[in-house]
Amino acid sequence: MLPVQKNEILTVTCVDLTHEGMGVAKVEGYPIFIENLLPDEVAKVKVIKVSRSFGVGKVVELLESSSNRVPVTDVKGTWVGTMPLQHLSYDAQLLFKQQQVSNVMRKIAKLPDVLVRQTIGADDTTAYRNKAQIPVRNVDGQLETGFYRKNSHTLVPIEDFVIQDKRIDEIVVIVRDALRKFQVLAYHEETHSGDVRHIMVRRGKNTEQVQVVLVTRTKKRLPKMLVDEILQTCEDVVSFVQNVNSKPTNVILGDETIVYHGDDFICDELMGLTFKISSKSFYQVNPEQTEKLYTEAIRAAKITNEDVVIDAYSGIGTIGLSLAKHAKWVYGMEIVSDAIDMAKENARMNGIDNVTYEVGSAENVMKKWLDEGVMCDVLMVDPPRKGLAPSFIDTALKMDASRIVYVSCNPATMARDLVAFTEGGYTVEYVQPVDMFPMTVHVETVVLMTRKNVDI
Ligand code: SAH
Repeated sequence: MLPVQKNEILTVTCVDLTHEGMGVAKVEGYPIFIENLLPDEVAKVKVIKVSRSFGVGKVVELLESSSNRVPVTDVKGTWVGTMPLQHLSYDAQLLFKQQQVSNVMRKIAKLPDVLVRQTIGADDTTAYRNKAQIPVRNVDGQLETGFYRKNSHTLVPIEDFVIQDKRIDEIVVIVRDALRKFQVLAYHEETHSGDVRHIMVRRGKNTEQVQVVLVTRTKKRLPKMLVDEILQTCEDVVSFVQNVNSKPTNVILGDETIVYHGDDFICDELMGLTFKISSKSFYQVNPEQTEKLYTEAIRAAKITNEDVVIDAYSGIGTIGLSLAKHAKWVYGMEIVSDAIDMAKENARMNGIDNVTYEVGSAENVMKKWLDEGVMCDVLMVDPPRKGLAPSFIDTALKMDASRIVYVSCNPATMARDLVAFTEGGYTVEYVQPVDMFPMTVHVETVVLMTRKNVDI
Protein backbone atom coordinates (compact mmCIF):
# COMPACT_ATOMS: atom_id res chain seq x y z
CA MET A 1 0.00 0.00 0.00
CA LEU A 2 1.47 3.36 -1.06
CA PRO A 3 1.57 6.16 1.53
CA VAL A 4 -0.30 8.55 -0.83
CA GLN A 5 -3.27 8.18 -3.17
CA LYS A 6 -3.92 9.82 -6.51
CA ASN A 7 -5.88 13.10 -6.17
CA GLU A 8 -5.05 13.32 -2.45
CA ILE A 9 -4.19 16.82 -1.18
CA LEU A 10 -1.25 16.96 1.21
CA THR A 11 0.86 19.59 2.92
CA VAL A 12 4.54 18.87 2.26
CA THR A 13 7.97 20.41 2.76
CA CYS A 14 10.36 20.34 -0.18
CA VAL A 15 13.70 18.75 0.75
CA ASP A 16 15.63 18.67 -2.52
CA LEU A 17 15.76 19.64 -6.19
CA THR A 18 16.30 16.90 -8.80
CA HIS A 19 18.77 17.34 -11.65
CA GLU A 20 15.71 18.14 -13.75
CA GLY A 21 14.76 20.98 -11.42
CA MET A 22 11.75 19.29 -9.80
CA GLY A 23 11.15 19.81 -6.09
CA VAL A 24 11.25 16.64 -3.99
CA ALA A 25 9.05 16.01 -0.94
CA LYS A 26 8.91 12.75 0.98
CA VAL A 27 5.98 11.01 2.65
CA GLU A 28 7.20 8.09 4.78
CA GLY A 29 10.27 7.92 2.53
CA TYR A 30 8.16 7.83 -0.66
CA PRO A 31 9.35 10.63 -3.01
CA ILE A 32 6.93 13.00 -4.69
CA PHE A 33 8.27 15.18 -7.51
CA ILE A 34 6.71 18.61 -7.76
CA GLU A 35 7.20 21.22 -10.48
CA ASN A 36 7.93 24.79 -9.39
CA LEU A 37 8.74 23.99 -5.75
CA LEU A 38 12.06 24.80 -4.09
CA PRO A 39 13.93 23.30 -1.14
CA ASP A 40 12.56 24.46 2.26
CA GLU A 41 9.25 25.58 0.75
CA VAL A 42 6.01 24.31 2.27
CA ALA A 43 3.06 23.78 -0.05
CA LYS A 44 -0.35 22.27 -0.32
CA VAL A 45 0.08 19.76 -3.14
CA LYS A 46 -2.32 17.62 -5.16
CA VAL A 47 -1.01 14.16 -6.05
CA ILE A 48 -1.57 13.83 -9.81
CA LYS A 49 0.25 10.57 -10.45
CA VAL A 50 1.41 7.61 -8.40
CA SER A 51 3.65 4.72 -9.32
CA ARG A 52 5.37 2.07 -7.23
CA SER A 53 8.56 4.04 -6.58
CA PHE A 54 7.50 7.69 -6.81
CA GLY A 55 4.61 10.10 -7.17
CA VAL A 56 4.09 13.39 -9.00
CA GLY A 57 2.40 16.36 -7.35
CA LYS A 58 1.17 19.78 -8.36
CA VAL A 59 1.29 22.87 -6.16
CA VAL A 60 -2.22 23.95 -5.12
CA GLU A 61 -1.06 26.64 -2.70
CA LEU A 62 2.38 27.79 -1.68
CA LEU A 63 2.35 28.19 2.11
CA GLU A 64 5.96 29.18 2.83
CA SER A 65 8.24 30.38 0.07
CA SER A 66 12.04 30.16 -0.22
CA SER A 67 14.27 33.23 -0.05
CA ASN A 68 15.72 31.95 -3.33
CA ARG A 69 12.36 32.23 -5.12
CA VAL A 70 11.96 34.88 -7.80
CA PRO A 71 8.80 35.70 -9.75
CA VAL A 72 8.11 33.53 -12.77
CA THR A 73 8.71 35.59 -15.94
CA ASP A 74 6.68 33.41 -18.26
CA VAL A 75 4.68 30.43 -17.05
CA LYS A 76 4.72 28.84 -20.52
CA GLY A 77 8.48 28.39 -20.14
CA THR A 78 7.79 26.15 -17.15
CA TRP A 79 5.04 24.19 -18.92
CA VAL A 80 7.13 23.44 -22.00
CA GLY A 81 10.39 22.99 -20.12
CA THR A 82 12.43 25.75 -21.77
CA MET A 83 12.91 27.51 -18.41
CA PRO A 84 12.58 24.88 -15.68
CA LEU A 85 14.62 26.99 -13.21
CA GLN A 86 13.07 30.39 -13.88
CA HIS A 87 11.58 30.52 -10.36
CA LEU A 88 15.05 30.18 -8.80
CA SER A 89 17.23 33.29 -8.31
CA TYR A 90 20.20 33.35 -10.66
CA ASP A 91 22.79 33.05 -7.87
CA ALA A 92 20.95 29.97 -6.61
CA GLN A 93 20.89 28.54 -10.16
CA LEU A 94 24.67 28.84 -10.31
CA LEU A 95 25.02 27.15 -6.94
CA PHE A 96 22.59 24.40 -8.00
CA LYS A 97 24.76 23.70 -11.05
CA GLN A 98 27.96 23.58 -9.01
CA GLN A 99 26.25 21.10 -6.67
CA GLN A 100 25.06 18.95 -9.58
CA VAL A 101 28.65 18.66 -10.73
CA SER A 102 29.93 17.95 -7.20
CA ASN A 103 27.32 15.20 -6.88
CA VAL A 104 28.44 13.34 -9.98
CA MET A 105 32.10 13.78 -9.07
CA ARG A 106 31.36 12.10 -5.76
CA LYS A 107 28.83 9.46 -6.85
CA ILE A 108 29.98 8.54 -10.36
CA ALA A 109 33.62 9.58 -10.71
CA LYS A 110 34.31 8.52 -7.07
CA LEU A 111 36.40 11.65 -6.62
CA PRO A 112 34.79 13.31 -3.57
CA ASP A 113 37.75 15.58 -2.88
CA VAL A 114 38.25 17.05 -6.31
CA LEU A 115 37.94 20.83 -6.57
CA VAL A 116 34.67 21.88 -8.22
CA ARG A 117 34.89 25.63 -8.74
CA GLN A 118 32.04 28.10 -8.62
CA THR A 119 29.93 28.16 -11.76
CA ILE A 120 30.89 30.96 -14.14
CA GLY A 121 27.64 32.87 -14.65
CA ALA A 122 26.24 34.91 -17.52
CA ASP A 123 25.52 38.66 -17.63
CA ASP A 124 22.51 38.04 -19.85
CA THR A 125 20.22 35.38 -18.46
CA THR A 126 17.53 35.91 -21.11
CA ALA A 127 17.63 36.42 -24.89
CA TYR A 128 20.93 34.53 -25.06
CA ARG A 129 20.21 31.75 -27.56
CA ASN A 130 21.49 32.33 -31.11
CA LYS A 131 19.47 29.44 -32.53
CA ALA A 132 15.85 28.33 -32.50
CA GLN A 133 14.30 25.08 -33.70
CA ILE A 134 10.58 25.55 -33.44
CA PRO A 135 7.96 22.89 -34.26
CA VAL A 136 5.17 23.89 -36.68
CA ARG A 137 1.84 22.19 -35.99
CA ASN A 138 -1.90 22.74 -36.32
CA VAL A 139 -3.69 23.78 -33.15
CA ASP A 140 -7.47 24.20 -33.35
CA GLY A 141 -7.31 24.37 -37.13
CA GLN A 142 -4.62 27.04 -37.28
CA LEU A 143 -0.89 26.73 -38.08
CA GLU A 144 1.06 27.53 -34.89
CA THR A 145 4.64 27.69 -33.69
CA GLY A 146 5.63 26.89 -30.12
CA PHE A 147 6.76 23.98 -28.00
CA TYR A 148 5.15 20.84 -26.66
CA ARG A 149 3.87 20.88 -23.13
CA LYS A 150 6.10 18.53 -21.11
CA ASN A 151 5.11 14.85 -21.34
CA SER A 152 2.35 15.59 -23.83
CA HIS A 153 1.54 15.91 -27.50
CA THR A 154 -0.05 19.34 -27.05
CA LEU A 155 1.69 22.25 -28.73
CA VAL A 156 1.62 25.45 -26.70
CA PRO A 157 1.72 28.41 -29.14
CA ILE A 158 4.53 30.80 -28.14
CA GLU A 159 5.73 34.08 -29.67
CA ASP A 160 8.13 35.30 -26.98
CA PHE A 161 10.52 32.48 -26.08
CA VAL A 162 12.29 34.71 -23.51
CA ILE A 163 15.68 32.94 -23.72
CA GLN A 164 16.10 33.40 -27.49
CA ASP A 165 17.62 36.37 -29.30
CA LYS A 166 14.64 38.75 -29.72
CA ARG A 167 15.29 39.11 -33.45
CA ILE A 168 14.99 35.33 -33.81
CA ASP A 169 11.59 35.41 -32.07
CA GLU A 170 10.47 38.14 -34.48
CA ILE A 171 11.59 36.17 -37.52
CA VAL A 172 9.83 32.98 -36.34
CA VAL A 173 6.57 34.96 -36.14
CA ILE A 174 7.14 36.49 -39.60
CA VAL A 175 7.77 33.03 -41.07
CA ARG A 176 4.72 31.62 -39.26
CA ASP A 177 2.50 34.38 -40.65
CA ALA A 178 3.84 33.83 -44.17
CA LEU A 179 3.19 30.07 -43.89
CA ARG A 180 -0.40 30.89 -42.87
CA LYS A 181 -0.84 33.43 -45.65
CA PHE A 182 0.36 31.08 -48.40
CA GLN A 183 -1.54 28.17 -46.85
CA VAL A 184 1.40 25.88 -46.40
CA LEU A 185 0.42 22.81 -44.38
CA ALA A 186 1.82 22.17 -40.92
CA TYR A 187 3.31 18.75 -40.22
CA HIS A 188 1.09 16.25 -38.46
CA GLU A 189 3.12 13.92 -36.28
CA GLU A 190 0.70 11.03 -35.69
CA THR A 191 -0.17 10.59 -39.37
CA HIS A 192 3.26 11.73 -40.66
CA SER A 193 1.53 14.04 -43.13
CA GLY A 194 1.60 17.76 -43.94
CA ASP A 195 4.59 19.82 -45.06
CA VAL A 196 6.55 22.05 -42.67
CA ARG A 197 7.97 20.31 -39.59
CA HIS A 198 10.24 22.94 -38.05
CA ILE A 199 11.44 26.49 -38.48
CA MET A 200 15.12 26.75 -37.64
CA VAL A 201 16.67 30.21 -37.31
CA ARG A 202 20.28 30.93 -36.47
CA ARG A 203 21.65 34.44 -35.99
CA GLY A 204 25.28 35.49 -35.69
CA LYS A 205 25.33 37.69 -32.61
CA ASN A 206 28.29 39.72 -33.81
CA THR A 207 27.52 39.85 -37.53
CA GLU A 208 23.71 39.99 -37.24
CA GLN A 209 23.47 37.62 -40.21
CA VAL A 210 20.46 35.31 -40.14
CA GLN A 211 19.83 31.90 -41.65
CA VAL A 212 16.28 30.56 -41.98
CA VAL A 213 15.79 26.84 -42.54
CA LEU A 214 12.36 25.37 -43.21
CA VAL A 215 12.37 21.66 -42.48
CA THR A 216 9.84 19.86 -44.67
CA ARG A 217 8.58 16.30 -44.89
CA THR A 218 8.90 16.04 -48.66
CA LYS A 219 11.04 17.51 -51.41
CA LYS A 220 8.10 19.56 -52.68
CA ARG A 221 9.41 23.07 -53.31
CA LEU A 222 8.33 25.94 -51.11
CA PRO A 223 6.09 28.54 -52.84
CA LYS A 224 8.26 31.25 -54.38
CA MET A 225 5.92 33.94 -53.03
CA LEU A 226 6.45 32.67 -49.49
CA VAL A 227 10.23 32.84 -49.78
CA ASP A 228 10.10 36.26 -51.47
CA GLU A 229 7.84 37.67 -48.80
CA ILE A 230 10.14 36.55 -45.98
CA LEU A 231 13.25 37.84 -47.76
CA GLN A 232 11.62 41.20 -48.49
CA THR A 233 10.47 41.61 -44.91
CA CYS A 234 13.76 40.51 -43.35
CA GLU A 235 16.80 42.07 -44.99
CA ASP A 236 19.09 40.41 -42.46
CA VAL A 237 18.19 36.91 -43.75
CA VAL A 238 21.31 36.22 -45.83
CA SER A 239 20.66 32.49 -46.16
CA PHE A 240 17.34 30.73 -46.78
CA VAL A 241 17.25 26.98 -47.18
CA GLN A 242 14.81 24.09 -47.18
CA ASN A 243 15.88 20.94 -45.39
CA VAL A 244 14.10 17.72 -46.28
CA ASN A 245 13.44 15.26 -43.48
CA SER A 246 11.11 12.52 -44.69
CA LYS A 247 11.58 10.20 -41.72
CA PRO A 248 9.05 9.76 -38.90
CA THR A 249 11.61 10.64 -36.23
CA ASN A 250 12.22 13.31 -33.63
CA VAL A 251 15.62 14.14 -35.14
CA ILE A 252 15.04 17.61 -36.54
CA LEU A 253 17.20 17.88 -39.65
CA GLY A 254 17.28 15.51 -42.62
CA ASP A 255 20.13 14.99 -45.08
CA GLU A 256 19.04 17.03 -48.08
CA THR A 257 19.27 20.82 -48.28
CA ILE A 258 17.90 23.05 -51.04
CA VAL A 259 19.28 26.60 -51.07
CA TYR A 260 16.85 29.39 -52.08
CA HIS A 261 18.88 32.45 -51.17
CA GLY A 262 22.56 33.10 -50.41
CA ASP A 263 24.63 30.05 -49.48
CA ASP A 264 24.03 27.36 -46.90
CA PHE A 265 25.89 29.24 -44.19
CA ILE A 266 26.12 32.43 -42.16
CA CYS A 267 29.20 33.97 -40.57
CA ASP A 268 29.77 34.88 -36.96
CA GLU A 269 32.69 36.24 -34.99
CA LEU A 270 33.96 34.45 -31.92
CA MET A 271 37.26 34.67 -30.02
CA GLY A 272 38.44 37.33 -32.49
CA LEU A 273 38.01 34.97 -35.47
CA THR A 274 35.37 34.69 -38.18
CA PHE A 275 33.51 31.42 -38.58
CA LYS A 276 31.28 30.09 -41.35
CA ILE A 277 28.46 28.00 -39.95
CA SER A 278 26.31 25.77 -42.17
CA SER A 279 22.80 24.63 -41.29
CA LYS A 280 23.89 21.09 -40.40
CA SER A 281 26.90 22.13 -38.33
CA PHE A 282 26.93 22.40 -34.58
CA TYR A 283 27.63 25.86 -33.18
CA GLN A 284 27.45 26.72 -29.47
CA VAL A 285 24.14 28.47 -28.73
CA ASN A 286 25.25 31.08 -26.18
CA PRO A 287 28.03 33.19 -27.70
CA GLU A 288 28.76 35.29 -24.58
CA GLN A 289 29.32 32.17 -22.47
CA THR A 290 31.06 30.25 -25.26
CA GLU A 291 33.94 32.71 -25.16
CA LYS A 292 34.22 32.18 -21.40
CA LEU A 293 34.06 28.39 -21.84
CA TYR A 294 36.74 28.34 -24.54
CA THR A 295 38.94 30.75 -22.58
CA GLU A 296 38.73 28.38 -19.59
CA ALA A 297 39.52 25.35 -21.75
CA ILE A 298 42.51 27.05 -23.39
CA ARG A 299 43.78 28.38 -20.06
CA ALA A 300 43.52 24.90 -18.50
CA ALA A 301 45.66 23.41 -21.29
CA LYS A 302 48.52 25.95 -20.84
CA ILE A 303 49.43 25.60 -24.51
CA THR A 304 52.89 26.57 -25.78
CA ASN A 305 54.24 26.74 -29.31
CA GLU A 306 55.90 23.34 -28.72
CA ASP A 307 52.56 21.62 -28.23
CA VAL A 308 50.68 19.38 -30.62
CA VAL A 309 46.99 19.59 -29.79
CA ILE A 310 44.11 17.30 -30.77
CA ASP A 311 40.69 18.99 -30.86
CA ALA A 312 38.38 15.96 -30.80
CA TYR A 313 34.71 16.55 -31.71
CA SER A 314 35.80 19.78 -33.34
CA GLY A 315 32.54 20.88 -34.97
CA ILE A 316 33.41 23.78 -37.30
CA GLY A 317 36.80 24.14 -35.59
CA THR A 318 35.97 26.85 -33.08
CA ILE A 319 38.09 25.56 -30.15
CA GLY A 320 41.09 24.35 -32.16
CA LEU A 321 41.30 27.46 -34.34
CA SER A 322 41.00 29.72 -31.27
CA LEU A 323 44.11 28.13 -29.77
CA ALA A 324 46.09 27.40 -32.96
CA LYS A 325 48.16 30.57 -32.73
CA HIS A 326 49.59 29.39 -29.39
CA ALA A 327 50.27 25.80 -30.55
CA LYS A 328 52.71 24.02 -32.85
CA TRP A 329 50.02 22.03 -34.65
CA VAL A 330 46.33 21.28 -34.20
CA TYR A 331 44.57 18.12 -35.37
CA GLY A 332 40.78 18.13 -35.38
CA MET A 333 38.16 15.51 -36.19
CA GLU A 334 34.40 15.46 -36.37
CA ILE A 335 31.71 13.10 -37.71
CA VAL A 336 29.61 15.63 -39.70
CA SER A 337 31.38 16.17 -43.03
CA ASP A 338 29.70 19.54 -43.54
CA ALA A 339 31.24 20.76 -40.28
CA ILE A 340 34.71 19.60 -41.36
CA ASP A 341 34.30 21.47 -44.67
CA MET A 342 33.50 24.55 -42.57
CA ALA A 343 36.49 23.92 -40.25
CA LYS A 344 38.89 23.77 -43.20
CA GLU A 345 37.34 26.88 -44.72
CA ASN A 346 37.45 28.65 -41.34
CA ALA A 347 41.16 27.88 -40.99
CA ARG A 348 41.81 29.27 -44.48
CA MET A 349 39.65 32.35 -43.94
CA ASN A 350 41.47 33.23 -40.72
CA GLY A 351 44.93 32.60 -42.18
CA ILE A 352 45.63 29.61 -39.90
CA ASP A 353 47.82 26.98 -41.55
CA ASN A 354 49.05 24.78 -38.67
CA VAL A 355 45.90 22.61 -38.60
CA THR A 356 44.76 19.28 -40.03
CA TYR A 357 41.07 18.34 -40.12
CA GLU A 358 39.61 14.96 -40.82
CA VAL A 359 36.05 13.73 -41.07
CA GLY A 360 35.09 10.53 -39.28
CA SER A 361 34.09 9.21 -35.90
CA ALA A 362 36.42 10.31 -33.12
CA GLU A 363 37.00 6.64 -32.24
CA ASN A 364 38.19 5.70 -35.75
CA VAL A 365 40.15 8.82 -36.57
CA MET A 366 41.97 8.75 -33.22
CA LYS A 367 42.97 5.12 -33.86
CA LYS A 368 44.14 5.99 -37.37
CA TRP A 369 46.25 8.88 -36.09
CA LEU A 370 47.81 6.70 -33.42
CA ASP A 371 48.67 4.08 -36.07
CA GLU A 372 50.24 6.83 -38.18
CA GLY A 373 52.43 7.86 -35.25
CA VAL A 374 50.64 11.09 -34.32
CA MET A 375 51.33 11.89 -30.67
CA CYS A 376 49.81 14.84 -28.87
CA ASP A 377 50.79 16.92 -25.88
CA VAL A 378 47.29 18.21 -25.26
CA LEU A 379 44.04 16.39 -25.95
CA MET A 380 40.83 18.43 -25.96
CA VAL A 381 37.55 16.55 -26.11
CA ASP A 382 34.09 18.08 -26.45
CA PRO A 383 31.75 15.13 -27.10
CA PRO A 384 27.94 15.13 -27.39
CA ARG A 385 25.78 14.19 -24.38
CA LYS A 386 26.54 10.49 -24.52
CA GLY A 387 30.21 11.16 -23.77
CA LEU A 388 33.23 9.24 -25.04
CA ALA A 389 33.31 5.71 -26.46
CA PRO A 390 35.47 3.27 -24.44
CA SER A 391 37.57 2.58 -27.56
CA PHE A 392 38.28 6.32 -27.88
CA ILE A 393 39.52 6.45 -24.29
CA ASP A 394 41.74 3.38 -24.87
CA THR A 395 43.39 5.06 -27.84
CA ALA A 396 43.62 8.39 -26.02
CA LEU A 397 45.50 6.73 -23.16
CA LYS A 398 48.04 5.35 -25.64
CA MET A 399 48.63 8.85 -27.05
CA ASP A 400 50.01 9.77 -23.66
CA ALA A 401 49.09 13.47 -23.69
CA SER A 402 50.49 15.35 -20.69
CA ARG A 403 47.20 17.29 -20.36
CA ILE A 404 43.66 16.33 -21.25
CA VAL A 405 40.93 18.96 -21.20
CA TYR A 406 37.43 17.51 -21.16
CA VAL A 407 34.68 19.97 -22.16
CA SER A 408 31.32 18.41 -21.43
CA CYS A 409 27.63 19.24 -21.79
CA ASN A 410 26.63 16.28 -19.60
CA PRO A 411 28.30 15.96 -16.19
CA ALA A 412 27.07 12.38 -15.67
CA THR A 413 28.77 10.88 -18.74
CA MET A 414 31.81 13.08 -18.15
CA ALA A 415 32.14 11.71 -14.61
CA ARG A 416 31.80 8.14 -15.94
CA ASP A 417 34.60 8.77 -18.46
CA LEU A 418 36.85 10.29 -15.80
CA VAL A 419 36.92 6.90 -14.06
CA ALA A 420 38.64 5.39 -17.11
CA PHE A 421 41.11 8.26 -17.34
CA THR A 422 42.04 8.11 -13.66
CA GLU A 423 42.48 4.34 -13.90
CA GLY A 424 44.65 5.02 -16.94
CA GLY A 425 47.03 7.18 -14.92
CA TYR A 426 45.56 10.70 -15.09
CA THR A 427 44.83 12.99 -12.17
CA VAL A 428 41.81 15.26 -12.22
CA GLU A 429 43.13 18.69 -11.21
CA TYR A 430 39.86 20.61 -11.04
CA VAL A 431 36.40 20.98 -12.55
CA GLN A 432 35.08 24.32 -13.75
CA PRO A 433 31.32 24.58 -14.41
CA VAL A 434 30.18 27.25 -16.87
CA ASP A 435 26.56 28.32 -17.25
CA MET A 436 25.83 28.19 -20.96
CA PHE A 437 22.06 27.80 -20.46
CA PRO A 438 20.60 30.15 -17.81
CA MET A 439 17.05 29.24 -16.62
CA THR A 440 17.60 25.61 -17.63
CA VAL A 441 19.09 22.70 -15.68
CA HIS A 442 21.91 22.17 -18.18
CA VAL A 443 25.48 22.68 -17.10
CA GLU A 444 28.70 22.71 -19.10
CA THR A 445 32.02 21.81 -17.51
CA VAL A 446 35.72 22.07 -18.23
CA VAL A 447 37.91 19.45 -16.54
CA LEU A 448 41.70 19.50 -16.50
CA MET A 449 43.49 16.18 -16.19
CA THR A 450 47.25 15.73 -16.07
CA ARG A 451 49.45 12.67 -16.46
CA LYS A 452 50.58 11.60 -12.99
CA ASN A 453 53.99 12.98 -12.03
CA VAL A 454 53.91 15.53 -14.81
CA ASP A 455 54.51 19.02 -13.54
CA ILE A 456 52.92 21.70 -15.71
N1 SAH B 1 33.81 21.60 -30.15
C1 SAH B 1 32.72 22.05 -30.98
C2 SAH B 1 31.61 21.01 -31.15
C3 SAH B 1 31.10 20.38 -29.90
S1 SAH B 1 29.55 19.54 -30.05
C4 SAH B 1 32.17 23.36 -30.50
O1 SAH B 1 32.47 23.81 -29.40
O2 SAH B 1 31.43 24.00 -31.26
C5 SAH B 1 30.00 17.90 -30.36
C6 SAH B 1 30.38 17.62 -31.81
O3 SAH B 1 30.68 16.23 -31.89
C7 SAH B 1 29.26 17.87 -32.82
O4 SAH B 1 29.77 18.71 -33.83
C8 SAH B 1 28.94 16.47 -33.37
O5 SAH B 1 28.62 16.48 -34.75
C9 SAH B 1 30.23 15.72 -33.13
N2 SAH B 1 30.14 14.26 -32.97
C10 SAH B 1 29.13 13.52 -32.46
N3 SAH B 1 29.48 12.23 -32.39
C11 SAH B 1 30.75 12.13 -32.88
C12 SAH B 1 31.66 11.05 -33.03
N4 SAH B 1 31.35 9.79 -32.70
N5 SAH B 1 32.88 11.33 -33.53
C13 SAH B 1 33.23 12.60 -33.88
N6 SAH B 1 32.39 13.65 -33.74
C14 SAH B 1 31.17 13.43 -33.24
